Amino acid sequence: MAIQISNFINNVFVPTDDNLESLNPSDGKLLCYVPNSGKHECDMAVEAASQAFKTWSLTSHIERARVLNRIADEIEKNADELARAESQDQGKPLSISANFEIPRAAYNFRFFAAAILSHKNESTELLHLKSISYTTEVPSGVAVLISPWNLPLYLLTWKIAPCIASGCTCVCKPSEFTSLTAYMLCDIFLKAGVPPGVVNVVFGLGSKIGNDLVTHPDIRLISFTGGTTTGDIIRNAIASQSRKRLSLELGGKNPGIVFEDADLTKHIKAIGNSCFQNSGQICLCSSRYYVHASRIDEFLDLLVKHARSLVVGDPFNKNTNMGPVVSKQHYDKVKSYIDLANKTGCQILCGETVDENPADLDPNGYYILPTVITNLDDSSQLMQEEIFGPIVCVTTFHEEDEVIERANNSRYGLAATIWTNDVGRAHRVSRALQSGTTWINCFLVRDLNMPFGGFKDSGTGREGYPYSFEFFTEKKTTCVSY
Ligand code: NAD
Repeated sequence: MAIQISNFINNVFVPTDDNLESLNPSDGKLLCYVPNSGKHECDMAVEAASQAFKTWSLTSHIERARVLNRIADEIEKNADELARAESQDQGKPLSISANFEIPRAAYNFRFFAAAILSHKNESTELLHLKSISYTTEVPSGVAVLISPWNLPLYLLTWKIAPCIASGCTCVCKPSEFTSLTAYMLCDIFLKAGVPPGVVNVVFGLGSKIGNDLVTHPDIRLISFTGGTTTGDIIRNAIASQSRKRLSLELGGKNPGIVFEDADLTKHIKAIGNSCFQNSGQICLCSSRYYVHASRIDEFLDLLVKHARSLVVGDPFNKNTNMGPVVSKQHYDKVKSYIDLANKTGCQILCGETVDENPADLDPNGYYILPTVITNLDDSSQLMQEEIFGPIVCVTTFHEEDEVIERANNSRYGLAATIWTNDVGRAHRVSRALQSGTTWINCFLVRDLNMPFGGFKDSGTGREGYPYSFEFFTEKKTTCVSY
């Protein structure tokens, strides 16, 4: 039977009459009913968060850290159920939800609990004026936290944890495509003793409730992760409300660069992950590869073999490497790029339109095979637009300067990978790339103490420690004369 999701406002589950249907991407069957919230629910949630802010903003760092750690404890206690729900709702293999994403959701709370306890302010002394100045950071107010569907619980908790550790309260709006684990998290907030109104969750269509939330006069901060187009809509919606703070983590079209000295045999699995992990639905995936011309045949041979070795299928099968993409809508979008590749004379080396689907795939699921495409120009839509699926475009280069220029020839600047054994070149190229994060000989290794965010159309602002605290607080200077 389909699960009925309710909004969570002031620590109470509030049902709605109007609901959306959310489908299981692995078989296209109804999974949950999701509240189709609107202005009324938005106003209730913002009011609850505003009332809660009066007391939560004054709680000690020790108390906040205690609450965050209790949330982490509860996530860990319920990890198996959360992992299963995430895989059902989003389509990712259970092995990834269970071993990577749900543990990371718990860790987000532990990390910011520890960070708030060790967080220090600054002070300076001017001897000639006999004065000491110091900073204090005060929570800014009520935040709206909006998250996408690709890493549902992982990315939502990445915002909630620093928000409430900073003393702010929030209204969260998870993606309408993947509401299930955010709903389960509400129960965890109750068990963990999060005071009423500190975290509120409203579900529904971004195109309906999104504008009400971001333009609400009592909202001081908006932390958004999602597509660049939506980021622009939000920026325009609040253009006349300059007192609002806005953090935007947006799309990417990330380059991967393979130099002539790369150890391909050693790194092919990591390179494959950079293309296909979570069916390519990670904003950080390298989706256009530039390979030194001297290594292109070997690279394509290894990558195609790797792609064909990936087991595409039921997320609950323990051998599965890649599940379906998240929705029919997204399936159609990704497939349209395969059509485009075929129409524009590209060569598809493996995957869609070349290989047969495994016989046991549910025909109603939104499965797309890992696909490698070559023979394309840098100006091709396939090389410039974010596809966000298990498709990688591969081309060649000859010179270092040339590849830097071509890698930077994109409206985006979120992440990059470099594969080389030349230490000097690795640092030199990393510095020259317009990307918020660059991985050298690895992919998706994250230290939460490092700034995370994008250049250009990939966003504004940085998340992580201490950057998230800077976003959620106002820094003040006090000067004392002695
Ligand atoms: P999306 O922009 O369609 O939706 C993201 C969220 O915004 C959802 O909760 C949606 O309901 C909400 N939304 C939609 N319209 C809105 C509006 N007018 N006002 C307020 N909220 C609104 O993105 P998506 O399809 O869910 O996610 C995929 C995108 O997210 C990709 O572009 C991907 O690169 C990006 N992403 C970026 C990062 C990052 O850290 N930079 C991480 C993950 C995903």
